[in-house]
Amino acid sequence: MQLRRRHTRPDPEYEAFIPSSRQVVSSVAPACDRPVAVQAVAHAEITLLMDALAFSAAKHRNQRRKDVDASPYINHPIALARVLAVEGNVTDHKALAAAILHDTLEDTRTTYEELQEQFGRTIAEVVREVSDDKSLSKDKRKQLQIEHARHLSHRARLVKLADKTCNVRDMAAHPPHGWELSRRREYFDWAKQVIDQIRGTNARLEAAFDEAFAARP
Ligand code: NDP
Ligand code: ZN
Repeated sequence: MQLRRRHTRPDPEYEAFIPSSRQVVSSVAPACDRPVAVQAVAHAEITLLMDALAFSAAKHRNQRRKDVDASPYINHPIALARVLAVEGNVTDHKALAAAILHDTLEDTRTTYEELQEQFGRTIAEVVREVSDDKSLSKDKRKQLQIEHARHLSHRARLVKLADKTCNVRDMAAHPPHGWELSRRREYFDWAKQVIDQIRGTNARLEAAFDEAFAARP
């Protein structure tokens, strides 16, 4: 989905305390028996994930989830990446990075250009794919998520599966403050409608979603 591009000023607070690894010259010492080239690739992927964590934490730094305890927002992107890696067996570092960054366009002042600059076009595109257009009404956005799901790329589908699984788990265990039973049930049903469009993407993740959905109140 195309988001309206928001041209905002760079975020000096982020720049101030997180030097991008793109500016850091790194050398990989041969710390194990694997060939140096293999270590270098692994190191580059780990570095990208660390950068994504630092970037997302900085961007969401003043945000909280909607549960009674107002949990730190960053717990949610971390939970997505964990679901993908641990429960979904996903090793694609670009999908994992996109999961960590998945709410930055929609919920912070981050721009597409900023993501592209920091993480490259592929990851920026996945984040854009899973971002709602906030200029639309909530009901329209929810309808479009159902309609657009089947057109998502494979990586965006993985992120979508993890996002809905984490949110449904939260909705059961730490629901948004003040949400009536009917509203929580509506959320479960809507999430399932989205996920039903993308079945056949990753059996482990779909099983994780179904298990989370079984806790529908
Ligand atoms: P939102 O989509 O704004 O809220 C749900 C989203 O909040 C999640 O998708 C998640 O998004 C984020 N979130 C933050 N904290 C939590 C948490 N602890 N648990 C789960 N999710 C969390 O919901 P709406 O306000 O749009 O309401 C959904 C629907 O309910 C609408 O269609 C509306 O019409 C309807 N509604 C029903 C009412 C009723 O009483 N039945 C009353 C009002 C609305 P993310 O991952 O992006 O952070
Ligand atoms: Zn999310």
